[in-house]
Amino acid sequence: MNGKLYIVATPIGNLEDITYRAVRILSEVDYILAEDTRVTGVLLARYEIQTPQKRYDAHASEKTHDMVLEDLAAGKKIALVSDAGTPCISDPGVLLVKKVREAGLSIEAIPGVSAITTAFSIAGIEGNQFIFRGFIPHKKGRETFFKAITEDVEIPHMFYESVHRIEKTLESLAEHLDETRTVTVARELTKMHEEVVQGTPEEVRDHYKNNPTTVRGEFVVIVS
Ligand code: SAM
Repeated sequence: MNGKLYIVATPIGNLEDITYRAVRILSEVDYILAEDTRVTGVLLARYEIQTPQKRYDAHASEKTHDMVLEDLAAGKKIALVSDAGTPCISDPGVLLVKKVREAGLSIEAIPGVSAITTAFSIAGIEGNQFIFRGFIPHKKGRETFFKAITEDVEIPHMFYESVHRIEKTLESLAEHLDETRTVTVARELTKMHEEVVQGTPEEVRDHYKNNPTTVRGEFVVIVS
C-alpha cells in the first residue's frame, strides 16, 4: 500500500497561479484536507476538480490526525492545502507533517506560490538573503520584535501583517527605525490592486496615512 500526503501550494490571489502538477494531484487524491472548504471550493470549481474535501485547520483534533494517519497507512492519497499559498508557512499543517513523518509514512511537496517569495521577487532588495519572521507577536514579544529588527541591520527582515494591524505596525517601525532603513510593503500580490510601496519608515507610514483607502487586503512587510 502506497499512501501519501501531498502538501500542495495554491494561489495567493490570482487563480491561474497554480501548477499543472498541483491540479492533477488535487484531482487524483482520495480527499483534500482544506483549511476552509469554501475557500478551496472556489479553486476546485475553477479547475473542475470533484475531489471531496475535509476540514483541517489550526484547531484540528487528535481524532482528525489519527484519521489521516490511518487513511495513509491504509494506502490513501491525501492532499493538504491552506486558504492561500504554501501550507505550513504561517499556516496549518506543521503538526500533521510532523506526525506523518514520525509514523514513517510518505510525504511529497507540490511546490508553488508563497506570499513571502512573491514579495521578495519584486522588492529589488540586493544581497540574496532575508530572515522570515512570520507574523509579528500581537502583545507579548512585540517590543522585543521591534528591538531585534532595529539592532539587526545586516539581513532584511520579512514578515506578514494583516489589515487590522498594518497601520499600527508601520507606526512602530517609524518610531523604532531611523531613516537609513528601507521599508517595503507589498500589498494584494497577484490581485487587481497589487502595489508595492517603498521608502523610509516615515515615508511608508505617511503614505498609508494619506491614502487610507489603500489600507485594505493582505500585506508583506520587508525591513532592509
Ligand atoms: N501560507 C501562506 C503563504 O505561503 O504565503 C501565508 C499564509 S498567512 C496565514 C497569510 C498572510 O500571508 C497574510 O496575512 C499576508 O500577510 C500574507 N499574504 C497572503 N496572500 C497575500 C497577498 N496576495 N498579498 C500580500 N500578502 C499576502
